[in-house]
Amino acid sequence: MDGITTKLNSADPAALISRKTGDWWQDDRRNWCSYCGVAIDFSANKPGSVNATRDHVIPKSHKAEGIKIPACLPCNKARAAMSLPEFLVSGYFDTVRRKKNSRAWSLRDLWLVLAYAAARQAYKHSDEWPGNK
Ligand SMILES: [Zn+2]
Repeated sequence: MDGITTKLNSADPAALISRKTGDWWQDDRRNWCSYCGVAIDFSANKPGSVNATRDHVIPKSHKAEGIKIPACLPCNKARAAMSLPEFLVSGYFDTVRRKKNSRAWSLRDLWLVLAYAAARQAYKHSDEWPGNK
């Protein structure tokens, strides 16, 4: 690794954000839709739980790294190919957030995970930056 790459690693914004948000797949957050807060279950289709999905923070069509967050099937379908910022101002999102489910992620955390995914994507392309070989 050259000096520039080493500097990027030590100041990797994605690593900083990741330390702040933690690993939602390893804690309780995996059991709740991050958007609306309903219970979801990846192990089985328990009665009363909505189908669990892994929602791509940056849509697959953007060929981004596969950063995903837990989401119920209805939220994942409602978001479809919308970007996360578009989804956060959609009528659907406004409606589900009116339920004020305490298990839903805060807007701060949703924006942080978007920043995390965007930083990972930028980092992936860091060797394309001029003078960074
Ligand atoms: Zn949901």
